[in-house]
This record gives sequence, C-alpha cells and structure tokens, in this order.
Amino acid sequence: MQSSKRKWIIIAGVSLVLIVASIFIFSPSKKEKEIPANLIDSTPEVIKEVVGPKIKSIGTSVQGRKIESYTYGSGATHIAFVGGVHGGYEWNTILLAYKFIDYLNANPSIVPSYLTVSIVPNANPDGMFKVVGKEGRFLATEIPKDDKLQASGRFNANNVDLNRNFDCEWKPESTWRGNVVSAGASVFSEPEAKVLRDFVQANKFKSVIFWHSQSGIVYGSDCENGILPETVNIMNTYAKAAGYGAVEKFNAYKVTGDSEGWLAKIGIPAITVELTNHESIEWEKNLAGMKALFTYYTPK
Ligand SMILES: [Zn+2]
Repeated sequence: MQSSKRKWIIIAGVSLVLIVASIFIFSPSKKEKEIPANLIDSTPEVIKEVVGPKIKSIGTSVQGRKIESYTYGSGATHIAFVGGVHGGYEWNTILLAYKFIDYLNANPSIVPSYLTVSIVPNANPDGMFKVVGKEGRFLATEIPKDDKLQASGRFNANNVDLNRNFDCEWKPESTWRGNVVSAGASVFSEPEAKVLRDFVQANKFKSVIFWHSQSGIVYGSDCENGILPETVNIMNTYAKAAGYGAVEKFNAYKVTGDSEGWLAKIGIPAITVELTNHESIEWEKNLAGMKALFTYYTPK
C-alpha cells in the first residue's frame, strides 16, 4: 500500500515537472516590444495602439499590387518617408524603408511623443516585381544582376516614370538623364501617383522625405514659387547628420511632374534623399538623418 502510494506521488511529481517544462519549451517567445516609459501604466489597448505600427493598404498599383503605409506614434506632427518610387531600379530604397520598419518595430520608443511617422516602403510595387519576380519583401541577393532589367523596373506597369506624373509643370514626356520618358497620359493618370496624392491629402504631413538613388545628395524641392524655407531646414538637417551633400534644386537636367515639386506647390516641405549607389542602404547614415529630423521637430 505504502509503496503504491509512493509510486503515484512520484508519477504525479514527474508529470507536473514535464507539464511545466513543456509550457516553457513550447510557448512562443514572450519577449515584448519595448514600451515607452510614458505608457507603462496604460492599458494594453492603448499600448498596442501607440506602440505597434498601424499597417494600412493605401491603394493599389496598375497590376493590383498593394501599396502599404506603416505608421508609428501618435504625436501632433506627422511626417512621411517614401521608398521605391522608382521601383526595381532603386530597390535599395525599398530595403532601406523596410529596415526602418524593422527598426521602429523593435525600438518604438525612438519615435518621440510629439511625432507620428509614416513609412511607405514601396510606392511602385509593379516596377519592383518586374525585377525581382515576387511580391512583398525581398533580399538584396534575390536581385538579378541585369542592368537592363533593373532599369526597366524604374517604370510602373504602363512604363510611366511615376516621378514625372505629378502636378508640377507636367508634360506628357519628360527626361531621365539623356532619355525621354513617359510622364503618363495626364497629371495623376497613374494609380500609384494617385495613391501618393491621396495619402498626402488625407494626412496633412508636415514634411515628406523620398528615398531615391544614386547621387549621395539631399535635394530640396520647388515648383514655380521657389524652395520653402522649411524645406531648406530639413534638407540641411538630414544631409548634415547623414553625411550627404545638400542641393536646393535638382539641376542636372530639366525634370517635370516630380512628386517633390508638387508637394512644394501645395506648400508641403519635401526632400529627396539620394543614396550613393543602387545597392547599399547606407543604414547608419540614414538612421542618423532620420533621428536628426526627429530632433528637429521637437516643439519649441
Ligand atoms: Zn529615383
């Protein structure tokens, strides 16, 4: 009797140990995102709302691919970053944007309480698809080393240069280096340009930062009324922190219908950050640029 009782106690004990061990082994990682100090006493709903990115589909491309925005923070000043306007030709700007998304997911407290930050990682998903042959995220190693293919990825599925389709001195044809490119059938004829237009108009951004490549220069923007003083400030802030050059007006050749010019026309400061080449994301430089902008917007 005694030995049988002992046997059952041992079996129960071993089972308990196994159950507890399996909970530890098989439960998903409980590592939570870093919660900003000012939210530690908030309800889980509030924390989720503030800390997690709000991921939205803001529209679709010619071929029906989703264009998404990721939004962090809930401050009064709302700024936006846009990658991939030139699709697969400037795929490094898309990788940079996703790197920022990963970074902000892991470090949400980096976004100050006075800011809301939105990122559109890939504004031209059809152009990216032409080059990498798949949707969504990709690795640099998946990009075919084919210059002609990559150049074709600059344009959307209608072979329009999206950064010539905006409402600033628009003409049906424009230029890209020595080439004539289609700027679309009319202003905002392309769904991707419309998506960005509507996204800007719905959010009243304080500024918009576009990532392009490849000159290692931060450009200001203007349309017909000259560069906005605020544009000069953010251009210099980002360029100085990132170690890029700063040029108020892109003047290598005449460009019409560019998105930054349209933003200048409607009074929104916009800059173009051109990475130095088409391959590297220059993470440390751009992280420094982004952080400098965050500080720049500290309420005075
Ligand atoms: Zn570009």
